[in-house]
Amino acid sequence: MIQEQELQGSPEYYSRLPVEPVKKLKFSKNNAFQVELRRRVDAFFRNTGRRERDCVQMYVKTAILLLGFAAFYLLLVFFAQTWWQALPLSILLGLVAAGIGFNIQHDGGHQAYSNIPWVNQLMGMTIELIGGSYYNWRWQHTVFHHIYVNITEHDTDLDIGIFGRLTPHQQWRPFHQWQHYYLWLLYGLMGIKWQLYDDFHSVLTKQMGDHQYPRPQGWDLVIFLGGKATFLSLVFGIPLFFHPIWVVLVFYGVAASVFGVVLSIVFQLAHAVEEAEFPLPQKDTGRIDNDWAMHQVETTVNFSRYNPVITWFLGGLNFQVEHHLFPRICHVNYPAISQLVEETCQEFGVKYIEHKSFWAGVVSHFRWLRRMGMKNFDPTQHLVSRTKLGA
Ligand SMILES: [Zn+2]
Repeated sequence: MIQEQELQGSPEYYSRLPVEPVKKLKFSKNNAFQVELRRRVDAFFRNTGRRERDCVQMYVKTAILLLGFAAFYLLLVFFAQTWWQALPLSILLGLVAAGIGFNIQHDGGHQAYSNIPWVNQLMGMTIELIGGSYYNWRWQHTVFHHIYVNITEHDTDLDIGIFGRLTPHQQWRPFHQWQHYYLWLLYGLMGIKWQLYDDFHSVLTKQMGDHQYPRPQGWDLVIFLGGKATFLSLVFGIPLFFHPIWVVLVFYGVAASVFGVVLSIVFQLAHAVEEAEFPLPQKDTGRIDNDWAMHQVETTVNFSRYNPVITWFLGGLNFQVEHHLFPRICHVNYPAISQLVEETCQEFGVKYIEHKSFWAGVVSHFRWLRRMGMKNFDPTQHLVSRTKLGA
């Protein structure tokens, strides 16, 4: 019998949501891999006495990141006098904002921060400080991305507009042949678009990528509007009292671009690389020919598992395989369970894929973008080349 926690992040879990994703897919029913993996991970936590959530390191990290955010913001808005003071401060502000997203908000939004629901909600709501929406993010990330990872037209993270082609099943356009050069710059602009446009557009149209979703209501709407008012006051309202508009716009642009580039690249390295699978559902049945947990592993790639600095800053997003299998376990535990997950994957014949370094992941993303920019790319070649890699 699958326990409640095993279901977290799985289609069964999300089928209990008040409004189900409109474009629902089914996965194969065989869940022996998932059950055994969960059994071993449960035993690991029992035997070691570690806590899945409410981890001391996480509270310390939260304090460091939020204090860093406040300090860089105050120094930038109230103390910086020259461009050479404002420039590094706005870069640091963009980086620490990304750190809040990777660590605090992401764990809170996944209910992985604490066993206490309001603590998770509070931490998840730090996304409002960095320009997102707690309500929209839960739909976009925990539903449309986590369940349907790398399934074209279902995983909203694959849809970055007409300028990028991330999967072999998306429409090719002539300018995609240069996407492996220009997309890196657009990732910065996507940070600005995400903060100033996407949430408003989604709420107004009730549309997120190819999915329809319900508008926020009641407290969700209050938090949405309050969050937007807070963010816009922090970014434009307060600074405009003290600085000319062009200064505010320039340094907002720097911070938001750094934020967007870092966020985009980290997420792209997990799924939009040449070693990841991009399966499609069966045309007639709408079924994915794979167990849900195996699908998660085969569409996800880790990187820099043994780099403590990257692991600290990325909030375990370099352990995306573990995250996609156990989204409700606090990320500070991922390095400890990683070996166990890898061994179980090997036993069940599931490919556990990783890039040894961040740079190796970046190069793989570059190659994948170049390949997706080719007009006559043959998707079957992708599978062949992956098998050869033996990743
Ligand atoms: Zn996630």
